[in-house]
Parts: sequence; C-alpha cells; structure tokens
Amino acid sequence: MRLLAVDRLISGDGERVIDQGAICIDGRGVIVDVGTENELSARYPEFEITHYHGCTLLPGLIDLHVHIGYWYSKPDFMEYNDMLMTLLAASNLRSALSLGVTTIRDVASEDGLCRTLKYASKQKLISSPRIYEVNQGIIMTGGHGWQLKGSLREANGPWEVRTAVREQVRAGAEWIKLMTSHRTHSPEFTQEELDAAVGEAHRLGKKCCVHASMQPAIQMAIDAGFDTIEHATFMTVEQARQMKEKGLVWVPTMVTFFQLAEQSHSRLKKLADSNGMLDESLELYESFYIESEKAYRENFAKLLETGVKIATGTDIVLDKQPITPVADEIALMVELGMEPLRAIQAATQTAAEVLDQGHRFGTLAPGYVADILIVQGNPVVTIGDLKNVREVFLEGKSVFINTPAM
Ligand SMILES: [Zn+2]
Repeated sequence: MRLLAVDRLISGDGERVIDQGAICIDGRGVIVDVGTENELSARYPEFEITHYHGCTLLPGLIDLHVHIGYWYSKPDFMEYNDMLMTLLAASNLRSALSLGVTTIRDVASEDGLCRTLKYASKQKLISSPRIYEVNQGIIMTGGHGWQLKGSLREANGPWEVRTAVREQVRAGAEWIKLMTSHRTHSPEFTQEELDAAVGEAHRLGKKCCVHASMQPAIQMAIDAGFDTIEHATFMTVEQARQMKEKGLVWVPTMVTFFQLAEQSHSRLKKLADSNGMLDESLELYESFYIESEKAYRENFAKLLETGVKIATGTDIVLDKQPITPVADEIALMVELGMEPLRAIQAATQTAAEVLDQGHRFGTLAPGYVADILIVQGNPVVTIGDLKNVREVFLEGKSVFINTPAM
C-alpha cells in the first residue's frame, strides 16, 4: 500500500476537486481511498507517502480514436512491411503512455495488429496502454480510405456488411467501425447497410462507431443508432439534440482537423506564392479541412449546449506528430467553450462509460483501478498544464516518469 499526495486531485467526474489531496493504492493496483492528505495520512499512518509538490493528480486519459500502426503518411512508407509497422505501433504505444494516455480505442488498423499488441503487452514484451479495438474498419467498395487496404475491409449490401462485422468479431474486435463519408456531401453506405451493421454488432453484443463527417451521412448514422459518431464535423444543433435523446456519444476529433487545416493553409499559400495552378481535386482536398475547422469553431459551443455527450479522440495520422494528443483535444474543447473540469471528464469518466468501463476506470474512487496521471501545475486554471506530465500509472504500476533536466 502507498499514498500519493498532491496539491490537488481531480476525480474525473466533471466536478470534484480535492485540494491537498491524496490517494491510497494497494499492491494489486486498486484504489483503496481518496481524500485530503490530512485525512489519509491519519487513516493510514503506517503507509509510505510520496509527495508531488506543485502537482495535480487525475485519472489516466482515454483516447477513443487512434490508428496505432498508421504508417501511410511516412515519407519512407516504401520501407514499411508488417514487421516495421508493428515496431512503429509499439513505439506509438510507449509514447501514448508518456502523454498520460492509459486506455485507447483503436478504430482501424491492419488485420490482427491490435490483437498481437495486446498479446505482446500481456506477455510483458511491450509497454502499452489498455487497448480496445475494431480490428479492420468496414467500408463500401472504393469508400473512405480504400487505398489503406490492410486496415479496411470492403463490403457491399446488408448481408456482406453483416459478414464483415462477424469477421471482425472473430478476429477479436470489441467494437465495430464503419466509415461512411469522404470529403463530399454524398454518403457512402446506404441506410440499409448502416442499419445492418448496427443490428449485427448489437446482436453480437458489440458496440459500434462510425466515421461520418458530412451530411446526410451524419443523419443516416444517427438514424442507424451508432453508439459513437466520429468527427460529425458539420453536425447541426437539431442532430446533436437527436444524439442526446438516443444516448449516442460525439467524438469530434478536432485536433487532427485543426492540424490538417493548418497544413492546407500553408500549402495554399506556397502555391499562391509560386503562382501555381490549383486543380479541382487539390482545391477540394485543401478546402475540406479549412471548412472543417471553421465548422468546429462556429458550432462547438452551440452543440455543447444541447447536452450531447462528448468524449475525446484524436485520430492523428500525420507524420512527425505525437500520437494520442488528448491534452491538445481537451485544450481545444476548453478554447471553444467547455469548462476545464468537463473537458477533462470527456477524456476520463465519459470515455470510460463509452467503453462500458465506467465502473472500473475513468474516475478516482475506491475500488477503481489506479490509472493515474500526475502533471506539474494546475490544469483547472491553465489547461495546457495537462502536457507537463510528471508520472503515469497504469493499474497502480508506474509506466512513465519524467525526470526534469538538471
Ligand atoms: Zn480515424
């Protein structure tokens, strides 16, 4: 048993903060008690106390939208085979832990990758956050991302979609993922196909998520009843109300859209400076991300007001960007009008509930596993402090320590 004491402790439920807080963890990595340092040191006088001065302690962060082995944007993509991809994924998992991310949901990677990573982690061959996964994503023939062959499965017609769902479950998927929009306003799957996917997933006891950025794909996804809707970039207030009504959760993944928009702006500027030609497909590509960022900036606060549940996902597929920048997604939510404690809740309690694990992690309470992030500073006041990671615990075990440079 040990006690960790900090300047403040954020429980993850969107409300509770304990000043001069402490947490007591047993040898199995389970939280025994949470309270003020005075209370806990009086209650457990025999246990060793570790003090983290000037620090805040909160539940480990959850990233619901990850592609852990994504290598397609690498400049040396020609070198990538399954072995190198697996090493990249293992390195990404380590980097996720260093950012305080203790649970991820992978929403499409190469067939079998996540299953292998989970096994390797269980065998202690690699250091990894807890992984939930969809195995391959399901798309229509030629649908969103079809070029990424190993991580997607093309399926057409309700029965083939059902077959594809069954294949992912057979491969070990805890979730099912469909993709049904690209960069135009024409949806990909038909309503019948989407309904079949949700019906089959739920029938087999699995939850399902869907990539839907545009209209009417967003409405079709809501009608089908996907448990989480990824991106929903151009969602209306009325649709957010429908999601709340149906208990569907929104995973906006703003951080990746904002980064892509920034790239688009700089590419367009370079092109203009060189008097280059902008062809139609390039214009569609670049303007999509710029319009996306605009939509998030204009609508996020209004959508938030409907009370729709929001959870964090990052979807980083750019080269040389840290994978799982959940802290940046939280910071964007705060910038666009969410209370800091609520934005942290989106990455902790709410995300854990999405995974049906709200009773096991995502908040700090007795009986919960000790997934813990300790940061220097006070994210309630300065949300960016979430990036000043001091130490990360997964099920009570220290998995990352940041030793400050001398
Ligand atoms: Zn994605």
